[in-house]
Amino acid sequence: MVKKPPAGSARGPEDTASEGEGLVRRKLTGIGVSPGVAIGNAYLLDRAHLHFPKRHVTAQEVDAELAKLDQALAKSVNQLQEMADRVKGPLGEDHSLILQAHILMLKDPHLVDVARDAIRKDHQNAEWALRRAVATVKQTFDSLSDEYFRERRSDVDFVGDRVLRNLMGQQADVPESLPKDAIVVARDLSPADTLSLARQQLRGFVTEVGGPTSHTAILARALSIPAVVGVEGVSELLGSGDALIVDGSRGEVLIAPSRMVVAKYRGIRRQHELANEELSALRDAPAVTLDGRLIRMTANIELDEEIPHAMAAGAEGVGLYRTEYLFLHHRRVPTVEEHTESYTAVAQGMGGKPAVVRTFDLGGDKLLPGGQLLAEHSNALGLRAIRLAVKEPLVMLTQLEGILRASAHGPLRIMLPMVGSVEELRQAKLMIDECKEKLRVAGVPFDERIPVGMMIELPSAVWVAEHLAKECDFFSIGTNDLIQYSLAVDRHNEHVAHLYQPLHPGILRALHHTVTAAHAAGIRVSMCGEMAAEAAYAGVLLGLGLDELSMPAMAIPRVKHTIRHWKQTDAVRLVKELLECATAKDVEVLLVSNQPEVELHPMALKPSVAPAGSA
Ligand code: PEP
Ligand code: MG
Repeated sequence: MVKKPPAGSARGPEDTASEGEGLVRRKLTGIGVSPGVAIGNAYLLDRAHLHFPKRHVTAQEVDAELAKLDQALAKSVNQLQEMADRVKGPLGEDHSLILQAHILMLKDPHLVDVARDAIRKDHQNAEWALRRAVATVKQTFDSLSDEYFRERRSDVDFVGDRVLRNLMGQQADVPESLPKDAIVVARDLSPADTLSLARQQLRGFVTEVGGPTSHTAILARALSIPAVVGVEGVSELLGSGDALIVDGSRGEVLIAPSRMVVAKYRGIRRQHELANEELSALRDAPAVTLDGRLIRMTANIELDEEIPHAMAAGAEGVGLYRTEYLFLHHRRVPTVEEHTESYTAVAQGMGGKPAVVRTFDLGGDKLLPGGQLLAEHSNALGLRAIRLAVKEPLVMLTQLEGILRASAHGPLRIMLPMVGSVEELRQAKLMIDECKEKLRVAGVPFDERIPVGMMIELPSAVWVAEHLAKECDFFSIGTNDLIQYSLAVDRHNEHVAHLYQPLHPGILRALHHTVTAAHAAGIRVSMCGEMAAEAAYAGVLLGLGLDELSMPAMAIPRVKHTIRHWKQTDAVRLVKELLECATAKDVEVLLVSNQPEVELHPMALKPSVAPAGSA
């Protein structure tokens, strides 16, 4: 829902009030998750819950409710038709067909007549009647034996939600073009909405919920958009159009800043730009310690279109492609062709540098709309990632086929998320073998020796790492989840963000155990969680012996620069001491006192993710 600006609530950035620093109308603090300064105007979105009014209408009101329903249906048809006319590009035809199917649904008597009858006979208001009709149609789809039709239930939901939003006068879509200077402010954003928004020219994000590793944060960093999450009550305090400054490094949101404050932040923004220019000079320099240890620096991507950005930042490959965003982009399970197209784009775009394609990590907070893929059981401890893949083998096999087909075009690697046991690893590898056999029989070229690795992000995987390492080609440590599951701290919950401690001695020991096990088995180990992106932790990761660090492209130059100031021997010595520490605070103190002097513009060393316990 787009909220109207409360009358007189905002002053623009050009306001003449002569307040100094600290006297802005209001300063809110949250968790800075993507560095940089955004100066612009709030654009409020509230799409988390669709509560609709439910009431019985009088006989006199029936005609008006029927007319209201007809209007909302007609408006929805027009919106979908406009969208279908607009979609272009290689996937355009496909999208257009889906949209046409949605239009047909809106004209289908099964939906429309049921809703009309509910108004006419049961005197339900239009919103309630529509919801009932949607539920009835879904039940019909449920009872069909054909899987294709069962899957269409989610389309009924999309269509139903659209009509409902139109009935209630709400915005049916995340807007396709935002006002100039927009800073999106929301209670929460679904990954799909974040994805649509992030593709537009927007200046920043502010949300009420979330932590440094939630999807809004990850996408904002990937696209270098300043963002602050966990700002309680912000969507109640602001109206669309209110002047705002977002400081994604300090986690601050300044509402209706004075002209002086705006001028100060323009200066800080310029400093960020200068620092980034300085760092970009390091693009082609290796990440090598003073005593010659070389670390591979790779990029995390969520969309294949981030590849040029990754190359520009000096990435030596893709260390993590979060392919679930491909599902979220299509809002359904992609076809083999769509998978192949995206992974081929990555393989070719990286110009011969290797790319790790992680099979989908749906579930948890990343769900497909309309309950596709058993969303109801998909919380963080439920059917997520590899568990969902085992449960839905056809979805996994389709993706694997896409990866294998694309592997003919460049060096790709397969990575399995959330593996918790040797059995799970074996199950997934059998699926890969099955897929390979299918392609062999069909004479389709693919990389027969494509490496298969797994993420270490569950404590159970850490403690059987010796066994897992014997049965796969590489490890990549997903600290975002490893910390979440080891410390029992929900990574998306701003109320426990202070307990999310990458430097917790328990985490350091788990990392140490994993790296030791991997090296004993002769396989390489990378880290692709956000911990790898933190320049302040570089010495710890060096000392632990990680071979590769994968991170949002924007963080590569800064981390590389820091690595170039460390000596491997010092890092190893330090880690030995850190492993004996009792608390995260002790670790932090020791680490800070051992940081090398890093000469660079001070802005370039600002952390992008808050250090231990200080979020
Ligand atoms: C992780 O858990 O650290 C990771 C990289 O995976 P994701 O953030 O996608 O869960
Ligand atoms: Mg993870």
